[in-house]
Amino acid sequence: MLNIGTRRIYLDKDGSAILNWYGGMGTYKQIPFYNLVMAVDSNKIDDTFKNKIVYFGTTASSLFDIKTTPVSKIYPGVEIQTTYVNNFIDNNFITKIDKKITFSVGIILALITGLIVISVSSSGLVSLMCISIYTIFIILAYFGMKYFNLWIEIVYPLIFGIITFISAFIIKYIIKSKDFDQQYKLATTDGLTELYNHRYFQEQIRMQIDQTRRYGNEFSLIILDIDFFKQFNDTFGHQAGDAVLKQVSQMLRANVRSSDIVCRYGGEEISIILPNTNKQTAYTTAEKICNLIANKKFKLNNNKESNVTVSLGVSTFPTDGDSASDIIDMADKRLYQSKHNGRNQVN
Ligand code: GH3
Ligand code: MG
Ligand code: MG
Repeated sequence: MLNIGTRRIYLDKDGSAILNWYGGMGTYKQIPFYNLVMAVDSNKIDDTFKNKIVYFGTTASSLFDIKTTPVSKIYPGVEIQTTYVNNFIDNNFITKIDKKITFSVGIILALITGLIVISVSSSGLVSLMCISIYTIFIILAYFGMKYFNLWIEIVYPLIFGIITFISAFIIKYIIKSKDFDQQYKLATTDGLTELYNHRYFQEQIRMQIDQTRRYGNEFSLIILDIDFFKQFNDTFGHQAGDAVLKQVSQMLRANVRSSDIVCRYGGEEISIILPNTNKQTAYTTAEKICNLIANKKFKLNNNKESNVTVSLGVSTFPTDGDSASDIIDMADKRLYQSKHNGRNQVN
């Protein structure tokens, strides 16, 4: 800042002042060079020059062609000097807003933009609000220049705003999809065993029936129930029962194909949908599971260990029925059969 009397001239780092290029044509009068020469020559200062500031030099149509075309009335050359004097007389220099303030304004606008993007759900409304805010900012910057000679930087805050806008949209999308995944997981899985829940099972078995029908192949269903579990709970406590239920669930998941769908059907009953699997293969899988569980020592929470057995029933679509309830009924019947025949077996 250069203070001369009451004048305050904003200077940049290099000590340059920014001209306010107001007025343009009409704030000065352009006179052919020979008129000046003749006036000086004849020593006759007429009204044209009386009480005037006279600058003389070349003018040009642009800063770069001063050498070749000192003829046009349009812009620079000597006009820069003239404008400077005009600015000086009128004390009319432009003040560039401090970089720190520009930066702060950019940050505030970007924060508002980010907040709008994250908190307003309608994309149309978000765009409208952001465009309005930046339009108001540009209008304010325009009036700042027009009435207060303030040069408010708009390009950087604008670029910063656009980057924030896009980033906030991406973040919002990621948060939304994560939230959706979490909600979906909550809605489809069982809290204790982390297996799929009954609702998901019902959905999937219907989907399997549709797909299997369309492609003309088969799929199987295994339902298993832990033997004498009520007694187990009574002996070891409900928490020990929960621990076993969890371990059985983990074992099942680890010992079937990744395409098989393991669900908690009810209390201690678990169902497994085996896509593209015939009766024989399903049977073999069920027997493998039955043996694995019978031979496993399950850890109870008080450092004790115990065995449990399971009974299983297997059914296959379409040989055992034409609908989801037929297939479930058949697996249930065969499970009952296993219980009836002495448990720890497959039917
Ligand atoms: P079986 O199936 O061999 O005929 O005898 P069971 O004693 O297992 O009989 P049933 O299947 O009818 O009994 C289910 C028992 O499983 C009742 C309940 O105490 C227990 N149970 C069900 N859900 C849970 C659970 O989430 N945690 C625990 N600890 N026990 C459960
Ligand atoms: Mg049982
Ligand atoms: Mg049961």
